[in-house]
Amino acid sequence: NPPLRKPQICPKGADVRQKKYGAEGGAGLIVTEIIAAHESAGFSSQLLRADKTGADAYATLARTIHSAGAKIFAQLFHSGREITRTADGMAAVAFAPSAVPNERFHIMPREMPDVMIREIIAGFASAAQMMQDVGYDGVEIVGSHGYLPAQFLNPSVNLHDDDWGGGFERRLRFTQEAARTIRAAAPSLAVGLRLSGDEKDGLGLDGAAMVKVCAALAPDFDYLSVTAGTSASLGASIHITPPMGEAHGYLAPLSKAIKAEVDIPAIVTGRINQPQIAEGILAEGAADLCGMTRAMICDPVMGVKAREGRHEEIRACIGCNQACIGRAHKGLGVSCIQHPESGRELIYGATPKATAIKRVVVVGGGPGGMKAAAIAAARGHEVTLFERAHRLGGQALLAQQLPGREEFGGIVDNLSHEMSAAGVSVQTGRTVNAETLFSEGPDVAIIATGAGPHAPDLKISDGAQVLTAWDVMQGANTGKRVVIADWKADWIGLGVAEKLAASGAEVTLAVNAAMVGESLQIYTHNHYVGRLHKLGVRIRTHLRLFGADEDAVYFQDVLTGEPQIIDGYDTLVTALGHVSDDSLARFLVDAPFEVKLIGDALAPRTAEEAVYEGLQAGWTI
Ligand code: SF4
Repeated sequence: NPPLRKPQICPKGADVRQKKYGAEGGAGLIVTEIIAAHESAGFSSQLLRADKTGADAYATLARTIHSAGAKIFAQLFHSGREITRTADGMAAVAFAPSAVPNERFHIMPREMPDVMIREIIAGFASAAQMMQDVGYDGVEIVGSHGYLPAQFLNPSVNLHDDDWGGGFERRLRFTQEAARTIRAAAPSLAVGLRLSGDEKDGLGLDGAAMVKVCAALAPDFDYLSVTAGTSASLGASIHITPPMGEAHGYLAPLSKAIKAEVDIPAIVTGRINQPQIAEGILAEGAADLCGMTRAMICDPVMGVKAREGRHEEIRACIGCNQACIGRAHKGLGVSCIQHPESGRELIYGATPKATAIKRVVVVGGGPGGMKAAAIAAARGHEVTLFERAHRLGGQALLAQQLPGREEFGGIVDNLSHEMSAAGVSVQTGRTVNAETLFSEGPDVAIIATGAGPHAPDLKISDGAQVLTAWDVMQGANTGKRVVIADWKADWIGLGVAEKLAASGAEVTLAVNAAMVGESLQIYTHNHYVGRLHKLGVRIRTHLRLFGADEDAVYFQDVLTGEPQIIDGYDTLVTALGHVSDDSLARFLVDAPFEVKLIGDALAPRTAEEAVYEGLQAGWTI
């Protein structure tokens, strides 16, 4: 198969600002990522207060955002006990109000000495002063998600019985003093507080407690930014970046309850992915402003489209968490599975018109093929996309059949809009073979024919009922007792297990990995595994499928090599990965036109790679 060409850097002279981002895309206020208030705070990837070399960059950022008419605030941060590693990868010494362990990261912090508490408060002030000096408009203290201010507020984490704790008023003191020192050091800045309106954890502060906290803290702040959850536990940390299984705008009731008790504006965040949802929240009086992060990574010009009434053109974030927070957690720059241009603006910031118009045929209407077609057509090429099914979407259509994953179909709607706006001719229900392709005579053929279920040679007896995960997603019936053999440990095994268990089956999910859903972003993983726990799905790990007969499914423990038998079952469902459908590409080795093989047809992976390769393919024609 011909290899993909390397993507080219944006041609010299191209206007990389042709596309609008951030402030120019319609945001009224941009809040930039956390800045450490003290050297003991820490995530290895954060921007450090002490790094004065960053001041010029902040100043440029502020100037740029102001020139587009928006305001810019910074988040000031201290992790407290929510710290795992130092910048050079060593286990960190965490400091917290008290030596109460962090459950999620298994950290036992040291109690902060009084002098350190005062240093940190002074650190908030000096960080704010620096942001004032570089031209920022405001700062917000990150007291959300169980970070240091929240640790001082929580009586199960703050065991002080002195100036810093031992009563409601004294637990407020750290946050109040931080706000007051910021005001004194940076009087021209707005000062906000980000808080979880409910930490949603048995060891955290609940909604009623947070209403009381907000009412008491509000006089020291200009606004509150309401989110939910805490980094301190696996289950509650999902609200830091809530997955698609959480409802749109699901935190609005929290901000509404807080707003009723305070006289300052409230921002609310959390799965607000379209302006209509934000409008609904504002109309209901549940918040004064809506915060969106992923929504604007996915569609950086959402605000402009909303203002101009182009709602149907908005590329709504589907909450998959894969390329945004998922990449950030791997230490990579954020992007989006639907819009891989985000985070890669220096290459793909503009869509330069092609210098020579070509006839392009795209075979396959999954996300990769659709993206390739949309980009090639947007560059001026004449593009026809053929899809053998009667609907576009490929595996996204299967994914949306699973409970809590219905929004996966959004990627199909969004890419369909992009194709139609770019003028792609789409023909569904059309199978294309090499002969038809040769007779079409394109200049370029993009082969995005996807993949199908992998079916390795297993010892399966005649009496065994075996279905693939695809069969189940397409509606096949199983018996009452189901064993799912899951090799990939991704969304398919988890989703099929939930679908079957929710319909009354007794499900065992046997995964050939250290944990189910291992390949998923951690918040997404925790959310969906929690749903399996609620449904009583039995989970087995480290199991390689060997075979099945009418009585039992046979596995091998991949750590010990010992046989493992699950007996008393009716149906075995296999989720054993995929194999490329590259049969068409194999006939095109000597084709008199250029052939580009992308996505799962090149190698079975995820929608993220398929869409990115679609972008690259459309870009390089
Ligand atoms: Fe949204 Fe998924 Fe894109 Fe992240 S990768 S911005 S969650 S669509």
